[in-house]
Amino acid sequence: MMNRFQAEKYPHINLARLVVGEREFHFEGHWIRGKPWDRFGLYNSYVIVRHDDEVCFMPAHAGELVPGSTEDLVAILGQFGSGSLFAPAPMTLELDPTYRCSSRDCGGRCFSSAYRRRSPHATIPSELLREIIIDFATAGGRVVRFDGGGDPLCHFAVRSGELPELCQHLNLKSTLLTSGDLFEHCDLHRLAQADCYVRISLNAASNETRWAFHGNAVPLDRIFAAIRQFADGLARENSPLPIGATFLLDRINFHEVLACAIRARDSGIAHFAVRRVLGPEALRPEFTTKEQSAIGDLLSAVGELSDEDFKVFVPWRDLNDPDVNPANTELYSEHCWQSIFKTVIEPDPATGGFCAQLCGRYRGGGLGQLQQMPPLFSSKDGAGWIDKWRHSFNSYFISRDALPNTCVSCIDRGFIFMMDRLVRFLGDPTKGFSVFHLFSRDNTQNEQAAGSCITRRGRRPDPLSGGLDLVDFGAGAQRDDVYSVEAPGG
Ligand code: SF4
Ligand code: SF4
Repeated sequence: MMNRFQAEKYPHINLARLVVGEREFHFEGHWIRGKPWDRFGLYNSYVIVRHDDEVCFMPAHAGELVPGSTEDLVAILGQFGSGSLFAPAPMTLELDPTYRCSSRDCGGRCFSSAYRRRSPHATIPSELLREIIIDFATAGGRVVRFDGGGDPLCHFAVRSGELPELCQHLNLKSTLLTSGDLFEHCDLHRLAQADCYVRISLNAASNETRWAFHGNAVPLDRIFAAIRQFADGLARENSPLPIGATFLLDRINFHEVLACAIRARDSGIAHFAVRRVLGPEALRPEFTTKEQSAIGDLLSAVGELSDEDFKVFVPWRDLNDPDVNPANTELYSEHCWQSIFKTVIEPDPATGGFCAQLCGRYRGGGLGQLQQMPPLFSSKDGAGWIDKWRHSFNSYFISRDALPNTCVSCIDRGFIFMMDRLVRFLGDPTKGFSVFHLFSRDNTQNEQAAGSCITRRGRRPDPLSGGLDLVDFGAGAQRDDVYSVEAPGG
């Protein structure tokens, strides 16, 4: 398949060219090359070439939260059964090993405080976690994300590096989202050896603000010192593994976002993501007009720090933009692809085992959110959970295709839109396809065309093309190798 087409860029002009057999396609923007970490955060669109040479352009996630997403998507799509909506395993397992957290409530913005307050010490035993991860790998899963409600570093089997190391031995990617409070107590060397992508919630540049926000007294200097130590260890190993950090915007900390970004950059952080508080209004800060204007200026300055070694992500939606309400027809999708490709496993305080939830919105059954949902299942059998997950497609009281008309608050629209377009365009993914990565300024206008696949057919304008002109470009193009992800046809 690789030789059927070629992708090129033009000198001095922001236009990407793709030749497929006798036809050529032009896209505003430029191709993004390289391996997953090179591409991370840099593309915002996919160009897909299907097995029959049809081509589709669509907005795409650049893997802000999970590494290497294109390869993982392609691998999982290749496992879809003929006519089946799901693969033998989810692509991503969001694994919350414990409800414990050494921060108090992150300025009252903690999405999990309502359910964790009821069972603050709920934990999945280490042996059970090992079984869960092994079952996931055996069934063909790809990414383990150690996550919370709660801080995964409060679980010794994560802090010691044992579970990330197990993931590596099983050829799984792993990533770890943490408050950073306990980072200095981790086996940093083992975490680095395990190739685990760590993302730390910084949320401040001074102790006073950090303590006010996190509700504890862990000195920020110690968190930054541990990050520096981790970064130096990676550099000594010549590892391409970056370190990520986040900053959750609130009224009590926004004024330190720029200073925090600078400290993060100088401590060896490679990805700095500023995030909005999501969820019900009660959890969200209400910024005054003056504060919003100050935040706008600060985020522009943060954006200017961005360069090849320090990638910056700032919210492009309005700070007060509410979550999507699928039940109010705000999420057009044939299925909830989030709960098809990913699942959440967390402690089950009632049984001492674990339970699986549809998505992050329903951690803790959704307690504290606008809507509650029962878990997909509860279990103490770490070696049999994937079977139960597969069974849930038929047995759960709401089907995956009814969810986009049922849930009242969804934070995963980007992934769901992308997958809806991708899967509908591919038809049968097992016939093979190729994915090219593109950065296009026209991407956002196309995102508005929710649910429509923007298809380009040669030089004929397509009614769904969202206003992008196809340009007939003559000689003078320079060839350039473009990395594409290939899914071989079955
Ligand atoms: S670090 Fe996470 S789990 Fe802990 S209090 Fe903050 S938001 Fe909640
Ligand atoms: S909230 Fe969104 S991601 Fe979660 S189950 Fe509902 S539709 Fe799916």
